[in-house]
Amino acid sequence: MPPAESNVPERRCEADVADYEQPCDLSLPEAVRRIRLPALNREWSYRVLIDAHHHLWHYNPRDYAWMTGSMAPLRRDFLISELQTVMRESDVEGTVAVQARQTIEETEWLLDLADRHSFLLGVVGWVPLRGPDVTAHLERFAGNPRLKGVRHVLHDESDDFYMLRDDFNRGVSLLKSLNLVYDILVFERHLPQTIEFVDRHPNQVFVLDHIAKPRIRENALSPWKENIEELARRGNVYCKISGMATEADWASWTASQMQPYFDVVLSAFGPARLMFGSDWPVLTLAATYKTWVETFRNLIAGLSAGEQDEICRRTAQRAYRLG
Ligand SMILES: [Zn+2]
Repeated sequence: MPPAESNVPERRCEADVADYEQPCDLSLPEAVRRIRLPALNREWSYRVLIDAHHHLWHYNPRDYAWMTGSMAPLRRDFLISELQTVMRESDVEGTVAVQARQTIEETEWLLDLADRHSFLLGVVGWVPLRGPDVTAHLERFAGNPRLKGVRHVLHDESDDFYMLRDDFNRGVSLLKSLNLVYDILVFERHLPQTIEFVDRHPNQVFVLDHIAKPRIRENALSPWKENIEELARRGNVYCKISGMATEADWASWTASQMQPYFDVVLSAFGPARLMFGSDWPVLTLAATYKTWVETFRNLIAGLSAGEQDEICRRTAQRAYRLG
């Protein structure tokens, strides 16, 4: 159901509005003023958010070799204190930290941070799913309630069909019994084999990251749209509204450019299988945290209070079993 601008619900969520006696400053930083946003419906714009996708890192050139060329601004530390600052500006109450390095050490580090910071509600870590010791790793981590899922950086594998390898699928088949989600990180060209991959695990909960990175830079919808609609027919697949600005032109993307992509995932998955994610700090290549949150709030502004609640936090709480 695409959002209708005239469909502003009459029922207010008093508790949410009352939490914010001093609405945050809606003015945009100078650097992103060029990105034009439609007028916000202020009454509906302060629904508390869970950010279901961000990263944290101590930068070093060995572990983050993918930060090449135009990604050079990411080559510095992005740590908890900076995340807390940008979260506070955007009424984000809790987060899910996602792996970026593909090491056991990073998974341990993120879980340790989650133990010490209650707003870090969960971790999507990395384990060697194809390795002979995957069971031992999973059993060791399974005792930690903050581990909610695992992810492999599929889209950086040279083999576009990596997700169909038998050893990889053996690892994924172990996740269900440990109540772990699998986060799918792919480009849109991987969607046909992603559908095949998901069909091998009908009882496994999957979360599709970044709406499968469509070619927003080119304003291309097909065949991404058709493949997303097919994937969404699987009720065990959820989808994150994240990573979109960085798939558009970093310097000149517009909020309206995001609308047709949002409409497709809203219609395909529905609010009960959509969740919000920032993809911070990768996001900072294209936008500030605040700008992305405001863009997202505009995209959902035409939905009912209940639908907004689903996308803002309840879907993430359900899919990841957040406490
Ligand atoms: Zn990310």
